[in-house]
Amino acid sequence: MKEPFWSDSNHPSAMHRRDWLRLVGLGGAAAGLGAWPTNEALPADVGEPGGFQSSILAKNKVQENRANPTIVNGRVIQPQRELAVLHRTDVLVVGGGPAGVCAAVAAKRAGADVCLVERYGHFGGLWTGGLVLLVTGHIVQGGKQVCQGIGEEILRRLDKLDGAIINRRPGVDPTVDAEAVKYVMVEMIEEAGLRVFLHSWCADVILSDNKVQGVVIESKSGRQAVLAKVVVDATGDGDVFAAAGAEFEHRSHNIGLVSRLGNLDRVDPEKAKQAPKPRLLGGPTPVPGVNWVNMLGPEEDGLDVNVLSRLEMQHRKFIWRHVQKIRSTPGYEKVYLMETAPQLGVRITRVLRGLSTVRLEDLKKGTKFPDVIGVGGASGGNHGPWQIPYGTLVPVKVDNILAAGRCISAEIRMADLVRLIPNCFVTGHAAGAAAAVAVQDGCPPRQVDVAKVQKILRQQEAYLGEPA
Ligand SMILES: Cc1cc2nc3c(=O)[nH]c(=O)nc-3n(C[C@H](O)[C@H](O)[C@H](O)COP(=O)(O)OP(=O)(O)OC[C@H]3O[C@@H](n4cnc5c(N)ncnc54)[C@H](O)[C@@H]3O)c2cc1C
Repeated sequence: MKEPFWSDSNHPSAMHRRDWLRLVGLGGAAAGLGAWPTNEALPADVGEPGGFQSSILAKNKVQENRANPTIVNGRVIQPQRELAVLHRTDVLVVGGGPAGVCAAVAAKRAGADVCLVERYGHFGGLWTGGLVLLVTGHIVQGGKQVCQGIGEEILRRLDKLDGAIINRRPGVDPTVDAEAVKYVMVEMIEEAGLRVFLHSWCADVILSDNKVQGVVIESKSGRQAVLAKVVVDATGDGDVFAAAGAEFEHRSHNIGLVSRLGNLDRVDPEKAKQAPKPRLLGGPTPVPGVNWVNMLGPEEDGLDVNVLSRLEMQHRKFIWRHVQKIRSTPGYEKVYLMETAPQLGVRITRVLRGLSTVRLEDLKKGTKFPDVIGVGGASGGNHGPWQIPYGTLVPVKVDNILAAGRCISAEIRMADLVRLIPNCFVTGHAAGAAAAVAVQDGCPPRQVDVAKVQKILRQQEAYLGEPA
C-alpha cells in the first residue's frame, strides 16, 4: 500500500505544512496564505501565536420576540414564541451522517434546492464522529457489489486519497480514515452546492394539517426555523419523524465507544513472545501503526440522557484502564490511546413504522419489489442481496417527510443489516432522489411516481437489483 498523504512518520501531526496547504487548496496562496490569517499557527506548531483580532459586535444586546419559560404551580411553562426563518428550501436533510450526505447530494444532483442541517461540526455521523471505520457488507455473497451510486463514489474518492483500505473481494470490508471521510464529504457537499447549517440541533418540527413544513433548529444563533417542502430524517434516531408524530418502535441496543490505538507498529516482537497477546487490539486502519477498536457495550436505551451520560464516563474509564494493561505487557510499552470517539456508539433507538418494512422473510425468499429503491448487503452472511422497497422510507402517517439510514422501517431481526454503513448510503441516496421527485411533481412523498425515482437512481449509478 502507498504511504498515506500525511505520513513521513506515524503521526498525523507530522504532516508537512506544504502538503497540508496543498490539501486544503491553498497551495498557490501559500506565500500570502490567502484566507488563512497571516500569522496563524499551523497544526504542527506549538505555542500561542500573536496577531489575533477581535471586535465588539454588540453591546447589551436584547433579543427580540423572546419569552422565557417560567415556573407556574411548580411546572415549567414555555410561552408562545415567534421564530425567525433562517432559510427556505425545497429539500431539507436533517443529519449529515452516511445516509444524510448521500440524500442531500442525490436530491441536489436531481435538481432540487437542498439544505443540510447537522448538530456537530463535521459530516459522517457515526462513521467519523463515532470512529466506526469498517464499511461492512458492500459486497455480498457471490461477489456482487450492491452498494453503488453515491456511496461507492465516496469510497472511490477515499481510495484516491489513500484514505481507505479497499479490497473488492467478498468478506473483505473497506476500512477508512475518519479525517479523510470528513474531507471527502466537505468536497462533495461543496461541489454539489448545498446550503449547510452545522452546529445546528434539530429540536422540533413545524407541522400543519399533519404535513411537515420545516424544522426548528437550536444553535449559537438561537432558535430559528428552516422551512422546506420535503424533509428527510437522517438523524439515525428518527428525531424528526418522532417530533412530527409519526409511528415508530423505540428499541434498545448495545451502546459502545470506539477508540484508536497508536504505535502498534512499534510493538517489539521478541519481547512480545514473553506474555500472551493482549486482548482488544482492534483492526488496522489506513494510518500505519494505528488500529481502531470496536466495542459492543451493554444493551441500553440510547434516547435516555442519564444512560448516555453514565455510559460515556464508564466506557472512557474502561478504555483508559485497558490500554494501561496493554502497555504493561512486554513488547507493548509504546502502544498508546490515540483517541476515544467524540461520539458515543448508539446503534439503534427509534425505528420508523413505514408503509412497508424490511423483513427477514423477504431476505430469505429473495423477494423482488416493484418499488425497489436499493439493494442491501451484509458481510459474511449466508444469503444473497436483499431488495429494499420504497415504502420503508415513508411513514404510515404524516406527510412531507422521509426516513433514511438506520431508522428506516425494519423488523428487529433485520435492524443489524439495515444499519450497516453501505445500506445507509443506499437508503439515503434513495430518500434524496424521492424527495427531489416529490418537489418537482408537487406531491407528498407517499404519492411519488416510484418509476421516476428509480430512473434518477439509475442515472446516478445506483444498483436496484435484477429485474423481477
Ligand atoms: C459501536 C458501533 C459499531 C459499528 N460497527 C459497524 C461496522 O463495523 N460496520 C458498519 O458498516 N456499520 C457499523 N455500525 C453502524 C453504522 O456506523 C451506523 O449504523 C451508520 O453510521 C448509520 O448511518 P446514519 O446516517 O443512518 O446515522 P448516523 O451515522 O448516526 O448519522 C446521523 C447524523 O445525524 C446527526 N443528528 C442526529 N440527531 C440530530 C438532530 N436532532 N439534529 C441535527 N443533527 C442530528 C448526527 O450528528 C449524525 O451526523 C456501527 C455502529 C456503532 C454504534
